[in-house]
Amino acid sequence: MSRAEVTAYVALGANLGDPAQALLGALSALNATPGVRLVKASRPYRTAPVDSSGPDYVNAVAEVATTLCAPALLDALQAIELAAGRERPFRNAPRTLDLDLLTYGAGRIASERLTVPHPRMSERAFVLVPLAEIAPTLVSAAQLQAVAGQAIEML
Ligand code: ATP
Ligand code: MG
Ligand code: MG
Repeated sequence: MSRAEVTAYVALGANLGDPAQALLGALSALNATPGVRLVKASRPYRTAPVDSSGPDYVNAVAEVATTLCAPALLDALQAIELAAGRERPFRNAPRTLDLDLLTYGAGRIASERLTVPHPRMSERAFVLVPLAEIAPTLVSAAQLQAVAGQAIEML
């Protein structure tokens, strides 16, 4: 029996190595994951680090359709991060690849390893601007206005 597909949004970010390449690699790794289908991806954006340090980030948001449950989707995201050389020396450290689960259908999850919707997404232009590009009904003008002070430009 196959599960119904759920629409999920994933935030991608990187600021070490070749970030634009890392994002492209992550999109194809996502689509190659059994039970995950890439539906659309935003353009890549260049952003200044927020609560972080090091070089500018490249960020994007992807829409996927998945038959995986949310914890299994997080496992897949973390496996792709690991394969891209992700290390976590300290909180908000510069990174080769960060994949965060923004939403999972209409699901609300609060477990030890997974909070959905992502609790900090509405504070971040680097999430809201690419999300608004591919899913304009999910982001309000007021939300975009609230992060308008954060530098972000299309690559
Ligand atoms: P932030 O979550 O503020 O963007 P980060 O992405 O740098 O920070 P990570 O080091 O990538 O943080 O992840 C830390 C932990 O967050 C992970 O081990 C994971 O279990 C947990 N986590 C909780 N909710 C989510 C989510 N929605 N997406 C991804 N990871 C999550
Ligand atoms: Mg993150
Ligand atoms: Mg993360």
